[in-house]
Amino acid sequence: MKTARVIPLVQQRPAGPLLPEHSPGTFADAAGLVRDQMARPLRDLRISVTDRCNFRCSYCMPKEVFDQHHRYLPQSDLLSFEEITRVAARFVELGVRKIRLTGGEPLLRRGIETLVAQLAALRTPQGEVLDLTLTTNGALLSRKAQALRDAGLQRITVSLDGLDDAVFRSMNDVDFPVAEVLQGIDAAVAAGLGPIKVNMVVKKGCNEGQILPMAQHFKGTGVALRFIEYMDVGSTNGWRMDEVLPSSEVLALLRSAHVLHPVAGTHSGETAERFVHAGALGQADATLGEIGLISSVTRAFCADCNRARLSTDGRLFLCLFASQGIDLRALLRQGASNEALRQAVASAWYGRDDRYSELRSQLPTAHAPSGQRIEMSYIGG
Ligand code: SAM
Ligand code: SF4
Ligand code: SF4
Repeated sequence: MKTARVIPLVQQRPAGPLLPEHSPGTFADAAGLVRDQMARPLRDLRISVTDRCNFRCSYCMPKEVFDQHHRYLPQSDLLSFEEITRVAARFVELGVRKIRLTGGEPLLRRGIETLVAQLAALRTPQGEVLDLTLTTNGALLSRKAQALRDAGLQRITVSLDGLDDAVFRSMNDVDFPVAEVLQGIDAAVAAGLGPIKVNMVVKKGCNEGQILPMAQHFKGTGVALRFIEYMDVGSTNGWRMDEVLPSSEVLALLRSAHVLHPVAGTHSGETAERFVHAGALGQADATLGEIGLISSVTRAFCADCNRARLSTDGRLFLCLFASQGIDLRALLRQGASNEALRQAVASAWYGRDDRYSELRSQLPTAHAPSGQRIEMSYIGG
């Protein structure tokens, strides 16, 4: 009898704070950067500022699970803005150059502009500003864009799963009109939060009919469009491989209507395979805008993954698919020094060997393995 192969999802790490055994110097390379067990540097920090959301996208927070009985984190469990900034500063000391605020819906966190201002004031050890960005569903963006910009936010990514109002309303599952998100994007452009990225998760049977209209709509607008494969993150979305539209098929569809030229990757850790539209003479014309394909399921990019995630309640996750996080909030609230915090982060990153997507892609037929998973809305995308 054929036995099912199981991906080892539970990390063999201690449950509580991972206390360091070495000084951070031990973990750093010649350039002063901390690297993990696969020599991946720590470059990108995603901070989830709330586990709440005003949408109920079926691939992320399905209504049936995130209903009136769902218990969100109490306010006292959330990291305060001061705690977030203090932890983020330690990550920056260890090599982080890009911080992305996410959630849940980050614009629901009261006073988010204050946090943006605090993070915008951080500097690298060389005195450089950070790349500070935020991912939002755009529902509150037209009201908040200018304040975010004024606080020091540099760029923004808006999630938008279709242009057709009926399709969009069914994707967000709270009957939210697409026109308001489009107004939010316009407000972000006007506030100078560009270059703006728009992310569309493609779920087969739901919104693949929106791929070509989205490409047409954003062509020539300066907005970069990203098509994302529907991922088996969390355990509430009932993910099935047959609902994933592989990026190769998205690309074939796009090429049936547009001439696209591939763009060489610009930096290590790049998740998207990027293309630019062709101009009138068939040449690559970057001014017509960019399209990216993020093949989280069909083409693993773990080898370059330099992303750490800080959950709403202050746990450090080393992989989107990790089942345990390292409790930095406990350290903070026990009065740990900056040095102790930095050591905890460095030690955790040094021990990192996560490469879930690569392991998944080694299965004969990709499927969602069982096991406890954290939700995207808690850890941030
Ligand atoms: N609420 C904000 C938003 O939607 O932009 C930020 C948080 S959301 C978790 C971050 C990103 O994760 C969004 O672009 C969303 O589309 C994406 N996402 C959520 N669940 C996903 C899944 N199962 N597969 C692929 N992308 C997913
Ligand atoms: Fe909310 Fe974003 Fe998840 Fe949609 S993807 S439910 S907008 S957190
Ligand atoms: Fe990074 Fe984990 Fe995703 Fe691989 S599966 S790219 S290690 S977050």
